[in-house]
Amino acid sequence: MDKPNTCTYCNLSEARIFDHSALSIAFKDVFPVSPGHTLIIPRRHVESYFDLTNQEREDMTALMIRVRSKLKDEFNPIGFNIGINEGFAAGQTVSHINMHVIPRYKGDVAEPRGGIRWIFPEKAVFWNAKPAATPETP
Ligand SMILES: [Zn+2]
Repeated sequence: MDKPNTCTYCNLSEARIFDHSALSIAFKDVFPVSPGHTLIIPRRHVESYFDLTNQEREDMTALMIRVRSKLKDEFNPIGFNIGINEGFAAGQTVSHINMHVIPRYKGDVAEPRGGIRWIFPEKAVFWNAKPAATPETP
């Protein structure tokens, strides 16, 4: 599928492009969760990360690494969350796969430990919990 007219990301204005590569584009999130919050998308309209070609995934990763470097220089964060919301149940709201690069700063949340686990707040704090049983821990 090439550039459907209804896709916001297929119709980004040039002015919004923060960086780009042969197969990917980086732009700042219009609803940033932290200063510098950036999205990486493939140039090709693809809904699922798992439908990208390996070349597209590699290109997105290479651009993400370059974007991280630029964000470090511009914002001086002390960490990053890198994430993809894959599918409606996981929070994907635009049907053009996008990778979030979220700079993190000292004190930006009360408890950063657990990171992505906070998508389920009641399960985020694991450090005092007993691990679930596994074949190794009956
Ligand atoms: Zn698109």
